[in-house]
Formats: sequence, structure tokens, C-alpha cells
Amino acid sequence: MKIWVVAERSKDGELRRVSLEAAAKAAELGQTEVLEAHGSGAARTSTTAFANALAERAKDAPPELILIGATPAGRDLGARLAAKLGRPYLSECADIRVDGGKLVATRAMYAGKVRASVSVPLPAVATVRAGIAAAADSEPALVPVDVGWDAGLEFVRFEETKSSGTRVPLGEARVVVSAGRGLKGPENWKIVEELADVLGAAIGASRAVTDAGWRPNEEQVGQTGKTVTPDLYIALGISGAIQHLAGMSGSKVIVAVNKDPDADLLKIADYAVVADLFEFVPAFTEELRKVMKQA
Ligand code: FAD
Repeated sequence: MKIWVVAERSKDGELRRVSLEAAAKAAELGQTEVLEAHGSGAARTSTTAFANALAERAKDAPPELILIGATPAGRDLGARLAAKLGRPYLSECADIRVDGGKLVATRAMYAGKVRASVSVPLPAVATVRAGIAAAADSEPALVPVDVGWDAGLEFVRFEETKSSGTRVPLGEARVVVSAGRGLKGPENWKIVEELADVLGAAIGASRAVTDAGWRPNEEQVGQTGKTVTPDLYIALGISGAIQHLAGMSGSKVIVAVNKDPDADLLKIADYAVVADLFEFVPAFTEELRKVMKQA
């Protein structure tokens, strides 16, 4: 089966992890081409222009399946491309398989309380969430697709993009230190930042924290936030509600620190630390600093 994966790069030029994971999944399912759209000026960021270029390419030798990472741009592109090609579209798939000429996908519904199995006939377009497969260590061979521009395409123009900081972006990070309401207030985030600095980690948060305005929304991990699949996820003072687990349970190693031994996150953690985080975290950070210095 012929599959296209449309790859996406982060602002610093790295292929996004979710694109690498989509490519690994595609390789399990069939014969894969990983495409990268190239345009200049406005065509560099226009999903309308990308969709046009990819639909044009599909005319000659259409693939049976097109996979795209479920990033904001990827979801936008997937919907446009499916509409242009007149194909069914499944968004935000947590798992996919091909069965009897159909694409069968698992998708979260009702804020993660239900996992639905849905199917559409092939050929189809789908966006896939982080964690769909283990990303290969090496980059796949990329096939460039030239994207042209026409002033009539300018429905949305990117005026400016702002970065919220210098840390590694949450969705790309190998290590994430995430914190919840157990931190008691935004003034206590220094201990989270110190631990993240020692580990070169991104910072995440539970929704209780972002809803309270203690941390920016883009740090929220979970069903209605970001899905992360780092090598190491450290959760500090997070209870482990199902909506939070939906965004991080694909992490390779999970460390949870909670003073309540019955907290749900401790039950799925590889390393469950029952402790007061205000005592544990500074001491742990100090020990890590010593170990890192010796290394
Ligand atoms: P709490 O549940 O209040 O847990 C705080 C934890 O800190 C407790 O386990 C406590 O024992 C521990 N603690 C307290 N003090 C200390 C201390 N000194 N030392 C150590 N531990 C301590 N949530 C998300 O995170 N992401 C989502 O995307 C998301 N989407 C949602 C979508 C919907 C539709 C709904 C209804 C809810 C969603 N939620 C989401 C909210 C979710 O249900 C929980 O309310 C939320 O995750 C709880 O955040 P928390 O664990 O920080 O807070």
C-alpha cells in the first residue's frame, strides 16, 4: 500500500517528532514516501498553498493513505487536503491500522473518557497524535514538494509569531517536568524551573494550573492540551485525572511525586515517590546537579 507522510519542521528547523513517529507508523503499514513542502514568502506557511501542491502531486500517482502529524498546522492541512481530494478525513488518531480496504483508527472522545474505534474507506487522509509509534533515530529520506503562490490564496496571513521562552518546545522535548495544583501557587514555580534547567527539560502543567492562570495555556498537557511522548516525564503534585493521563501516558519513563499514596498518577508511574514535593524537589535537584557535574 502506498502511503504519503507529510513532514513538518519546528521553528528551529528540526523535523517534528510527531512527523518522525508518523513516518515510523507508515513504514509498518506499507510503502512510504515522506514529503516536505517547500515554498517561499507567504507560501512557506500557507496550508492552502501546501494543500494545492500536494493535491496536484496526488493527481499523477495517488497514495491510498496520507498521514500528517496532528499539530495545529497539520490538522488544518489535513482537512484542506482531504476536501480537495474528495477523500474521507480522520483527525487526531491515537492509533491506526488498515483492515479490509478500510482505515481503522482509535480516537479519544468526550474529553478522553471514551476511546472510539472508527473506520473510513481508503483512500483517506488522517492526522495522527504524538505517540502513534516510536520515532526512528535517523531522519527518513525526504521528497521535496514545491509550493507555488497565488495572491488569491491569502485567506490567513501570519503577521508575527511569538515564542513564550527559550526552553525546548513541549511537544519536541525528550524530558518534561510538569507540575500541578500541588505547587499551591505560581510563586512556587522556581523549584520546577530549577529542576527543568538541570535536566534541560521543557515545562508542562495540569489544566488546573493553566485554568487558574498560574501558567500559560501552551504548557497544558492532556486531553485538551498537548500530547507529549518524552523519554522522561516527571509529574510534581499532579493527581492523575484521566484527561491529564491522555496527554502523557505514552511517555517512556514516568516519575510521579505526590504526598497522597493513592494518587492515580502514582499507579501508572515507573517511579512513584510518595513525598512532600516542597521537601523532595529541591533535594532531588541538588543531588542531580552534583551527579551532572561529575559526569
Ligand atoms: P488536583 O487534582 O487538585 O491534584 C493536585 C495533587 O497534588 C493531588 O494529588 C495532591 O495529593 C498533590 N499535592 C498537594 N500538595 C502536595 C505536596 N505538597 N507535595 C506533593 N503532592 C502534593 N486536566 C489536565 O491536566 N489536562 C487536560 O488537558 C484536561 N482536560 C480536561 C478536559 C475536560 C473536559 C475536563 C472536564 C477536565 C480536564 N482536565 C484536564 C482537568 C482534570 O480533570 C483535573 O481536574 C486536573 O488534571 C487536575 O489537576 P491537578 O492534578 O494539578 O490538580
